[in-house]
Amino acid sequence: MGAMRKKILVIYTGGTIGMVQTEKEPYLRPASYKNIREFLPEIERLPCDLDLKTFSSPIDSSNMLPEIWLTLAELIYTNYEAFDGFVILHGTDTMAYTASALSFLLEGLTKPVILTGAQLPIDMIRTDARENLITALEFASHPEYALPEVAICFDSKILRGNRASKYSSEKFQAFFSPNYPPLAEAGVHLELYTENWLKLHNKAPFSIQRNLDDNIILIKFYPGIQRQVLEVLLTMPNIKGYVLETYGTGNLPDFPWFISILKEQIESGKIVLNVTQCPAGKVIQEKYKNGKKLLEIGVISGRDLTTEAAITKMMYVLGKETEPHKIISLLNTNLRGEMSDA
Ligand code: ASP
Repeated sequence: MGAMRKKILVIYTGGTIGMVQTEKEPYLRPASYKNIREFLPEIERLPCDLDLKTFSSPIDSSNMLPEIWLTLAELIYTNYEAFDGFVILHGTDTMAYTASALSFLLEGLTKPVILTGAQLPIDMIRTDARENLITALEFASHPEYALPEVAICFDSKILRGNRASKYSSEKFQAFFSPNYPPLAEAGVHLELYTENWLKLHNKAPFSIQRNLDDNIILIKFYPGIQRQVLEVLLTMPNIKGYVLETYGTGNLPDFPWFISILKEQIESGKIVLNVTQCPAGKVIQEKYKNGKKLLEIGVISGRDLTTEAAITKMMYVLGKETEPHKIISLLNTNLRGEMSDA
């Protein structure tokens, strides 16, 4: 007797994978899942049972919003017992944000949640959609191993979702994960690098967090960023948290006016998280005098978090806790493999 067929829920949100373009309207726009079914009949031959939930109006993922992340989390929660794994079809533009957000919202996950999409629509001859979708489904329905994580499947690689970033707008290798190795790779065989998978220490049952606090701002620094701009951003009344994209190992100008305004805001209870603008490597605030100033006034090191993971982790943590010391403690903790130890 063969192995039990796994049940996979495919969630179609939109993205290039299913987009269409016509002579009359020569730009890509979201289309229904019917398009995917029509151009990829092979998925019926995979040794798993598929079910589908589709957004009633599929979106370009540049329209993604935190409330849609909550809807996706709820959808997975409602169907969790009935399925062995989940494959989310999603645009590439914000896929790394969605993967990061879901990695935090889904607590105690023991089943694979794999996001995939494509750089070329499925109806194009050279499309990468076929490979990506088939690999994602094969991986999510692996007969022996269940990845207990949210991942991105793209160009033959399975990457941890909260470690990945969109790296190319044109190459089939659209994503990279410079600070963490792949979780699996598809060649002739599906190679599983289980040593890189999250270890399940927490035996708590699967649950989801149902809110995210988006009262946050990301500030990317550059030489010449105006004092007035920083003053406005750093003193906005409803903002609870800042992600600062800093230089190198986490350095910023140590101009007295800047340090003093940042210090004042931190003392008033605002949370400030430091991530590097470098795609690879990590924040080490104690390395330079400039970075050390930030450490001294209470800026939290985001270590090797991607910006996508930093933003969504901040929304998640602010949605969970209100007391500053608890927020800071969670931001310092590696919750879902999103950052390396200090
Ligand atoms: N704009 C598209 C989207 O993110 C790009 C893609 O899917 O590759 O929905």
